[in-house]
Amino acid sequence: MAETRKTKVLIIGSGPAGYTAGVYASRAMVEPILVQGIEPGGQLTTTTEVENWPGDTEVQGPDLMIRMEAHAKAMGTEIIGDIITDLDLSSRPFHATGDSGTTYVADAVILATGARAKWLGLESEEKFKGFGVSACATCDGFFYRGQEIVVVGGGNTAVEEALFLTNFASKVTLIHRRDELRAEKILINRLMKNPKIEPLWDHTLEEVYGTNSPLGVEGVKARHVKSGEITDIPAKGVFIAIGHAPANELVKDVLETHMGGYVVTKPDSTQTSIPGVFAAGDLTDHTYRQAVTSAGMGCMAALEAERFLAEQGEDVEVAGGKDHAEPLGYGAKVEA
Ligand code: FAD
Ligand code: NAP
Repeated sequence: MAETRKTKVLIIGSGPAGYTAGVYASRAMVEPILVQGIEPGGQLTTTTEVENWPGDTEVQGPDLMIRMEAHAKAMGTEIIGDIITDLDLSSRPFHATGDSGTTYVADAVILATGARAKWLGLESEEKFKGFGVSACATCDGFFYRGQEIVVVGGGNTAVEEALFLTNFASKVTLIHRRDELRAEKILINRLMKNPKIEPLWDHTLEEVYGTNSPLGVEGVKARHVKSGEITDIPAKGVFIAIGHAPANELVKDVLETHMGGYVVTKPDSTQTSIPGVFAAGDLTDHTYRQAVTSAGMGCMAALEAERFLAEQGEDVEVAGGKDHAEPLGYGAKVEA
């Protein structure tokens, strides 16, 4: 028979935002349930060295996420290997259905389902992912000091990444499928003025090539969209910047979204357009998309959920006691 699990706070997602929300919600004694989804540990499990997580000069992404999971568990978060397939936010308590058949009934929900970089879908792109092919210049640009780099895309992300990568690279080739960028003018101006960046218009990425042992990129072949002519570009790093898609499938029809589907939250808050539903991490962040910012938002979401439950008259103690709520400075009152 299908199981029903009741919880004060249901956390959906097991990346830095979800696990951090778990740590804080557990310490607030709201006994959260966290559902991990199809990618336990989130995006960082798909990378190797992480060099910008405070406290670790270098840590392997999967190791960091195992530690975060253990931390959330040790604090009291119940972690469940399930995927939420349906979420009913039309009335409280909220109802979520798991792939396992379990129904989760929750007074508050923290959405931490992250975002996924879009990829071109080339076989060679897949082969070199994590070994020269990346979708995160902030994360991986540092590895290409003094090297030639290729960036694919024509939006703000591609232009920002190309500009950022000139801090490390000897040359950046920006491959775009049209002869006009969709990025903002101010960014285009910066790009055009930068002597290290060479745009390659009207081209698509045909193939990434490199060595097998060790696995590493040596260059790319780009195809002219009209003539079909192939241009060979030597490069050690290839950054695909053709957009990120927030994992908003559960809520895109019921919550306010913007900037291509990112969940809107109140300023300085993780509260969404439905009271009691909070969003943290890459699902709501079209700007920074970093582990540490996601973790920060996970913390905010847990504290705001705790405050929300206390204001609803749930049997929840606000950290420090209700009398101490204001001095703790948790921010604006959450409207019911
Ligand atoms: P994610 O990490 O995206 O996690 C989302 C979680 O939601 C997953 O656990 C998934 O299983 C779960 N989920 C999704 N849908 C459902 C569902 N229906 N039901 C249940 N669960 C669901 N950032 C850095 O700061 N430093 C780096 O060095 C760095 N390197 C990166 C390298 C790569 C290759 C990539 C792709 C990203 C990198 N990032 C890095 C970015 C960083 O990984 C993200 O900013 C961060 O992981 C976002 O955290 P999140 O918790 O919002 O979501
Ligand atoms: P985007 O605006 O959707 O741009 C994606 C780019 O990739 C486009 O140039 C597109 O080409 C190209 N592209 C898409 N699919 C492709 C494919 N299969 N092959 C080759 N090229 C492909 O995505 P984004 O740049 O990540 O930006 C997403 C959102 O975040 C935007 O709203 C953006 O304004 C915002 N953002 C803002 C800032 C900022 O304010 N500083 C920074 C980053 C992002 P076409 O142009 O031909 O469609």
